[in-house]
Amino acid sequence: MSDRPASQALFERASAVLPGGVNSPVRAFRAVGGSPVFIARASKARLISADGDEYIDFINSWGPAILGHGHPAVIEAVREAAMGGLSFGAPTALEVLFAERLQKLYPSLEKLRCVSSGTEATMSALRVARGFTGREVVVKFEGCYHGHADHLLVKAGSGLATFGVPDSAGVPEAIARLTLTLPYNDPEALRAAFASRGKEIAAVILEPVVGNMGCVPPEPGFLQLVIDLCREHGALSVFDEVMTGSRLAPGGAQERFGLRPDMTTLGKVVGGGMPLAVYGGREDVMRTVAPLGPVYQAGTLSGNPVAVSAGLATLAELTPALYERLEVLGAALEEGLRAAARDAGVPACVQRVGSMITLFFREGPVRSWAEASGSDTKRFARWHGEMLARGIYWPPSQYEAAFLCAALTDDDITRTVAACREALAAT
Ligand code: PMP
Repeated sequence: MSDRPASQALFERASAVLPGGVNSPVRAFRAVGGSPVFIARASKARLISADGDEYIDFINSWGPAILGHGHPAVIEAVREAAMGGLSFGAPTALEVLFAERLQKLYPSLEKLRCVSSGTEATMSALRVARGFTGREVVVKFEGCYHGHADHLLVKAGSGLATFGVPDSAGVPEAIARLTLTLPYNDPEALRAAFASRGKEIAAVILEPVVGNMGCVPPEPGFLQLVIDLCREHGALSVFDEVMTGSRLAPGGAQERFGLRPDMTTLGKVVGGGMPLAVYGGREDVMRTVAPLGPVYQAGTLSGNPVAVSAGLATLAELTPALYERLEVLGAALEEGLRAAARDAGVPACVQRVGSMITLFFREGPVRSWAEASGSDTKRFARWHGEMLARGIYWPPSQYEAAFLCAALTDDDITRTVAACREALAAT
C-alpha cells in the first residue's frame, strides 16, 4: 500500500472547498483520527483509490451495493434509462413497476411514495404520521439514526419520559421537545412512556436491526411490543428500514421477523446505488398525502427513471441464493473475527445479523447505546488504521455496521480475518 500521496493532496484541495473536505461527515475518518482515502473507481467487492491501491470494501456505499460495485445488469439498466432522458417531472411506467415490485416484497406497503434520500423518507413518514393522528410527539431510540431532519437529531433529556434536547446546533429546542428518546431494547421504558404520554404520541420510529450504533439486534419480542403498544394507543409504528430493507431479506427485517409495521421507510439497497428512497404503509394512513389529503410532500426528482431503473435492476437480482451466500460469507467473517479477538486476548464481541456485522471492542452482548458506548474506541481507531494499511476498507467508526456484498469471495474473507489477526497484534 502507498502512503496515499494522491489522497492527501485531494484532501487538502477538498478541505478548501468543502466543510471538513467531505460531503458527509463520517467520510472524513475523524472518529479514527485519520484522513480519507479518495476513491477513483470500484468493481465487485474492490475499491481502487486515487493512489491506485486496492481495498476489500466492507462499506459498500454505506449499504446500497449489496451486489458489489458495477453489477452489469444495474449499469446496463441505468445506461438504457439515461439514454431516454434523466428526469421529466412527470409520471412514468418505470416508477409504477418499481412500486408494484416493492409492494410484492413488502406487503405492509399498501401505498408508497418515492423520494430521493433516507432523510426525506423518514421526515415525510413522520409528517404523515402526525397529520394522520393529529398528534405531535415522536418516540425514537438512543443509538438509532434516521437521517438529519430537525426532529430526529435529538437526544434524551434528563429523565425517561422527559422532553428531548437538540443533538445538533441549529435544531430549535421547541422542535426537539416533541421528540422522546428512549433506550433501545427496553420494554419497561417504552411501556412507561406510553403510560404517561400515550395520548400525545403520533409515532414510534426505530431501526428494526440497528446499524447506526454498530450492529445491535432487537431482543425477542421488542419489535412486536412496539407495534402492539402503538396500536393500543392510536400511534403508528414506523420501521426505518433504510439500512435493513432488502438487505436482511428481500422484504427487509419485517419479512425476516414476520412483522407488519404501520409504516416503513426504505433506501440504500432498493435504490441500487442511486439517490432513491421510499416511504409508505397503511392505505388509510397514506391517503392523507397530497394530492389526496392534507399532508404536503413533493420532489422534483422523485421517482426519476434513472434511479428507479437502478432500483428495479437490483431488486431483480435479490434471489434466495444471494441471501444464502451472504449468510455463508457473514458467518465465516463472524467466526474469524471472534477467534482472532479471542486468540489476541482482546475484550471484544462480534454481533451480526445477515450481512450487517460489527466487531465491538468490549465484552458483549451489546443491546443498547449505553452498552455500545462503553466500547474501547481508541483501540478501535488503532485497529482500523492497521486494517486500512492492509487493504481492508472497514467503516471508520466503532458505531457503524460493516456491510457484506455478494461479490466477496471466500478468499476475501480469509484475507480479512488474517489482516484482523495482524491488526490486533499491532494494536
Ligand atoms: N435511516 C437509516 C436507518 C439510515 O441508516 C440512514 C443513513 N445511513 C438514513 C435513515 C438516512 O438516509 P440518507 O443518508 O439517504 O438521508
